[in-house]
Amino acid sequence: MLDRRAFFIDGSWVSPIDGQDFEVVNPATEAAVAVISLGGAEDVDYAVRAARDAFEMWSESAVSERIDLLRRAREIYLRRRDEFADAMTLEMGAPRDFSRESQAPCGDTLLASAIEALEAHAFERPSLRGGSTLRDEAAGVAGLITPWNWPVNQVMAKVASALAAGCTMVLKPSEYAPLSAGMVAEVLAEAGCPPGVFNLVHGDGFCTGAALSAHPGIDLLSFTGSTRAGTEVMKAAADGIRRVALELGGKSPNILFADADLDGALRFSVENCFSNSGQSCDAPTRLLVEKSVYDEAVTMAGRFAADVTVGDPQRPGDHIGPLVNRIQFERVQEHIRKGIEEGARVVTGGLGKPHGFETGYFVKPTIFADVDNDMHIARNEIFGPVLVMIPFDGEDEAVAIGNDTEYGLAAYIQTSDEARAQRVARRLRAGNVYINGNYGDTDVPFGGYKQSGIGRENGPFGLAEFLETKAITG
Ligand code: NAD
Repeated sequence: MLDRRAFFIDGSWVSPIDGQDFEVVNPATEAAVAVISLGGAEDVDYAVRAARDAFEMWSESAVSERIDLLRRAREIYLRRRDEFADAMTLEMGAPRDFSRESQAPCGDTLLASAIEALEAHAFERPSLRGGSTLRDEAAGVAGLITPWNWPVNQVMAKVASALAAGCTMVLKPSEYAPLSAGMVAEVLAEAGCPPGVFNLVHGDGFCTGAALSAHPGIDLLSFTGSTRAGTEVMKAAADGIRRVALELGGKSPNILFADADLDGALRFSVENCFSNSGQSCDAPTRLLVEKSVYDEAVTMAGRFAADVTVGDPQRPGDHIGPLVNRIQFERVQEHIRKGIEEGARVVTGGLGKPHGFETGYFVKPTIFADVDNDMHIARNEIFGPVLVMIPFDGEDEAVAIGNDTEYGLAAYIQTSDEARAQRVARRLRAGNVYINGNYGDTDVPFGGYKQSGIGRENGPFGLAEFLETKAITG
């Protein structure tokens, strides 16, 4: 079993002061594969003090120095990319090929987009009328809290932007995906990141995350995770008026009009809802289908779902893996049970584990038809491979149902009518709208409306999250 109990503070791996052991479990085998330490308040305090001590030096560093560091980190990351992929397979069950082709490349693209943003950013510029100088400065010591579902993606989105801005930081990654996060510390150490600039404390939300959110030495918090925990972080940050950026949950509508290429659109819709075992915040989980093609779409979706197989994450192939842990498995079962109880029709999947998977947190990819948008399964983020299909009649009803959610992270449109796609996209209250399966590049902002969060990540938008603007006059 791997021993990953140390924290990375002030440029060294150090023993916890008041940590408690926590086993990292491989979700495919249910076997413990590593032990980490859940840091206590004293560990957090030590890391925050190291970050504060390094802040003056790093915030005043030359932009070229920060670009050099990010470039070196990128080279090392690329060299170790497959190791990152393997670590994610082990800790959160992403299948080997998906880890290599989708999860691990995010670390590289986010470093590249932070470098690009930093190269392009004008840190000083005249005010609109020319009477003052506007100067962007590092916002301070950042507390970074991340989830387990796209572990490197979420860690790197924050770390690369914070480094680029000149912030120093304390990262608390998810206790369920600590292995890849620890490797980020190794990459930065090898790249020559000055001591205290990047610090890592493992831990849970209840103790370590709460201590970080409430620490007076933190100037801003960047949190990705559930809306429940985001609310707690925001409350803790309110004392002391710490800035908060939140990337939270979603229940994204996917509007399929009768004029879409049904075959392509439904294949995309099913595959993208089930991808990463349904554990993506922006997954297209509510499939709204125009009534005239609803029955046909349900049959086709069921057929495409049969092509999505569940399998051992260590095996190559395009199958999906298990859910991350037992809690998530039980939560998803509970959502499926509620869907059945409230009368939605199970097209495929349902309760229990797939045949032949007694061990591991595997679930059956599930499609519910005849779903009403007021049902529990249409309103709540399930975070498993569960698709709900809701009929609609006409564009106005599609937009109304699409927007009838507490969330606003992403929305998807499938239609062959370009003008309609653009019209509907402008009416949907979501941070990203994807038309006919096209995803945005890393230079576009990622973030949500409503309870999906506050703020935006990626490239220039991620950089801006970690900056304060000062006006110098006279
Ligand atoms: P989670 O909220 O349980 O945990 C996320 C992180 O917050 C973990 O590091 C956890 O230890 C910590 N945490 C938990 N409670 C806390 C508290 N009270 N104070 C401080 N920290 C606390 O979420 P999860 O289960 O790890 O991830 C799944 C959730 O993340 C889903 O809701 C998903 O939609 C969301 N998510 C959002 C985005 C986005 O960019 N919008 C991306 C990925 C995941």
